[in-house]
Amino acid sequence: MNIILLGPPGAGKGTQAGHLVETRDMIQLSTGDMLRAAKTSGTEMGKRVAEVMDRGELVTDEIVIGLIREQLEGDKKGGFIFDGFPRTLAQADALEALLNEFGEKLDTVIEMQVNDEVLVERIVNRAKEAVAAGGTARADDNEESLKIRLMEYYKKTSPLIGYYHAKGNLTSIDGLASIEEVQGSIAKILG
Ligand code: ADP
Repeated sequence: MNIILLGPPGAGKGTQAGHLVETRDMIQLSTGDMLRAAKTSGTEMGKRVAEVMDRGELVTDEIVIGLIREQLEGDKKGGFIFDGFPRTLAQADALEALLNEFGEKLDTVIEMQVNDEVLVERIVNRAKEAVAAGGTARADDNEESLKIRLMEYYKKTSPLIGYYHAKGNLTSIDGLASIEEVQGSIAKILG
């Protein structure tokens, strides 16, 4: 099974993807994690994307499509969970082409619905918790970058909801429910 978790920053995509990795042996493909890893490892690409990411803007389609392509070449285990990808219509088209190329298909797109106030609250808390635990907050978990991340989401990513709805593979769930309840809703969809 190959699925997309779609939703704004802070919707809980990463948490749910982690659960699916544990319970269904699926592979989480988080472009955000891949880009952060590139940033820390100091590769040329990492250096190029660092500022863009920290501001809260999207990096170019070309870069993230390249990252996803590399991952599709590996073992697919229980299937792929696309987390934070696609984020633009061009990325959605590229994903379709890539899946075709690798003889795979997209089974379902799960949209996690959450309202903006909750998103801001969750992200501000995530930053506080990271600091309280002795670490540092993500460079883009500040109010200014968060505002840009949300605008990028509404401008560039939310059109994917209509797109996948029209294709007939979208299911929307309530992302405000408890983590366990959201897990239950996803399990029901995946069967
Ligand atoms: P969140 O969903 O919490 O905003 P992510 O970890 O998914 O965070 O992404 C962090 C940042 O990485 C984004 O704000 C963006 O700069 C970059 N990024 C991640 N995925 C993509 C993508 N598919 N296309 C473009 N930029 C991306």
